[in-house]
Amino acid sequence: MMAGTMTSEAMAHSPAVLEVDLGAIVANWRALAERHPNGPVAGVVKADAYGMGAAAVAPALLAAGCRHFFVATLDEALAIRDALPDALLAVLGGLIPGSEPLYRDRGIVPVLGSLAEIDAWTATARAGGHALPAILHVDTGMARLGLDPDELAKLQHDHSRLAGLDLRYVMTHLVSSEVAGDPLNHAQQARFAAACAGLPAAPRSFANSSGIYLGAGWASDLARPGAALYGINPTPNQPNPMRQVARLRARVLAVRTLPAGTGVGYNATWQAGRPSRIATAGIGYADGLHRAIAGRARAFFDGRPVPLVGRVSMDLTTFDITDHPAIAPGTWLDLLGPGQTPDDLALAAGTNGYEVLTSLARRVRRIYLPA
Ligand SMILES: *Cc1c(COP(=O)(O)O)cnc(C)c1O
Repeated sequence: MMAGTMTSEAMAHSPAVLEVDLGAIVANWRALAERHPNGPVAGVVKADAYGMGAAAVAPALLAAGCRHFFVATLDEALAIRDALPDALLAVLGGLIPGSEPLYRDRGIVPVLGSLAEIDAWTATARAGGHALPAILHVDTGMARLGLDPDELAKLQHDHSRLAGLDLRYVMTHLVSSEVAGDPLNHAQQARFAAACAGLPAAPRSFANSSGIYLGAGWASDLARPGAALYGINPTPNQPNPMRQVARLRARVLAVRTLPAGTGVGYNATWQAGRPSRIATAGIGYADGLHRAIAGRARAFFDGRPVPLVGRVSMDLTTFDITDHPAIAPGTWLDLLGPGQTPDDLALAAGTNGYEVLTSLARRVRRIYLPA
């Protein structure tokens, strides 16, 4: 579709839109499944599917055959539970005391990362008189969540603490999966094998997006990719094997012609060095465009870069369109798209693609290209 000729009704009054290609997400999931023949590949849809909208992404993955979903919080799980009948829906954040009945009643699987959580969940199972599904999280190096070495040893010596649980998976999470040569990866692989050896037999879950690309040793039974589904490069120093998913577009609200020497935006950090045309687009840091990209990123129009000038403000960003005579009020500029990926924008903002995507604000209207 040509820039500037969008006819979608949804865009009619929006200053900024995020076009999400559900077909690309599904294609990425299939590509990951091909690289992970050992067992199923889950869809990690936490943080509203990395900003893409879990309510649309989760059903698209389900329709493609995905049967395992991970979110970070119980509220995230509750929001999509009804859209995922018969799928395993697990909460990575663990079991907050008092929430057990909600997990049980809505068929949501807690990822248990401490003996206290295990005890609370087994007590819930006992009280209800039937087994409850659980995923056990072992800490092999992240030192955030998951059974620490002391608690793991206790559990390994007393499997009865798991009585009443239907142990669906034992999982761990990689510290440096995107750094292929990091010795931590091998260390975690060894620790995970040792941890599982002393626990009741259960399928294992190890690899995130980059873990799938580390090789067969990290494959395990269930892979848990998130970022790669949404187009973030799981192999940062090599060409991106994933398809781009997100196209972030902002409408030009106004165009000004300025004499040389005129300042633009807060603190006049940029001054026109020549007579200039400046476009003001309806997107700012409140939409998730990081303020730190000022002077470092650009937009794209008809595939050509358009320099971002001056500060990124809350709702507006300014661009030097002196060399783009076709840009006028109503023109759409691409902030994310083929010309500038989430990883590119992340480099400009001093962050990673994950933060770029999850920063996209609710007020940016989502438009879905169907799978
Ligand atoms: C977020 C998360 C994932 C997905 O990681 P990606 O790098 O986005 O693929 C997998 N497992 C756990 C425990 C996570 O927190």
